[in-house]
Amino acid sequence: MITFIGAGPGDPELITIKGKNKILEADVIIYAGSLVNPAVLDGHKADAKIYDSAYMHLDEVIEVMKKAEDEGKKCVRVHTGDPAIYGAHREQMDRLDELGIDYEVIPGVSSAFGTAAVLKKEYTLPGENQSQTVIFTRMEGRTPMPPGEKLVDLARHRATMVIFLSVGFLDELSKQCIEGGYPPETPVAVVYKATWPDQKIVIGTLADIEQKVKEAGITKTALTVVGNFLQGDYNLSKLYDKHFTTEFRKAVDE
Ligand code: SAH
Repeated sequence: MITFIGAGPGDPELITIKGKNKILEADVIIYAGSLVNPAVLDGHKADAKIYDSAYMHLDEVIEVMKKAEDEGKKCVRVHTGDPAIYGAHREQMDRLDELGIDYEVIPGVSSAFGTAAVLKKEYTLPGENQSQTVIFTRMEGRTPMPPGEKLVDLARHRATMVIFLSVGFLDELSKQCIEGGYPPETPVAVVYKATWPDQKIVIGTLADIEQKVKEAGITKTALTVVGNFLQGDYNLSKLYDKHFTTEFRKAVDE
């Protein structure tokens, strides 16, 4: 049995209890050293074999998993954030399926949510100028975007956008957002290494974020979040509105 684990965004206390327990029991650990905080591995067995997948290609990762499985060892594969978001996770599971090796997946706190937490913001606010929709996306890099998913297309919705893997293209990012329909004064935050000790937060607008991020020296490991949720008017929720009856609570008469 191979266990895929979401390690969370960085703070070693932001891994799930279930994920941490699996790490403590593991004989073989494969982790994405480029982004996973090695502190999440603290307490691992003294004789656990540890591999950094940053130096491995897919065949090598699968080989380590297969060997562990053949030897009856417990193997964990530790991904940053949650493996379901830009984790190159599916291709590993498919290979394990082909080999008839069983696996499980333990989710993690995506950096998308680590970022909302450190910003102390809510992505989905009620109100005309707000959005009830969150788009997780990225800019086209070496991985091409499918038709209809260029930032300029997605921007049309003026939803809250959480943009991964793209802080190196902020100029183009802002341009496409504005071209697509967000006003240039739309607030933007860039969060570098959310929840790590060296975290940095830069707040600006589509018009000035690139310059501010350049000045802060941020070139990688950052999320860009765009939308009025960062600032601006919103309506209070119906859920906690005292004049509103819910399944659990009667409206207050005044
Ligand atoms: N599965 C991960 C994302 C992997 S893709 C998750 O759920 O978070 C790698 C990208 O995620 C980085 O380029 C960066 O855009 C973002 N990222 C990962 N950790 C981050 C962190 N602590 N703070 C800000 N962005 C982060």
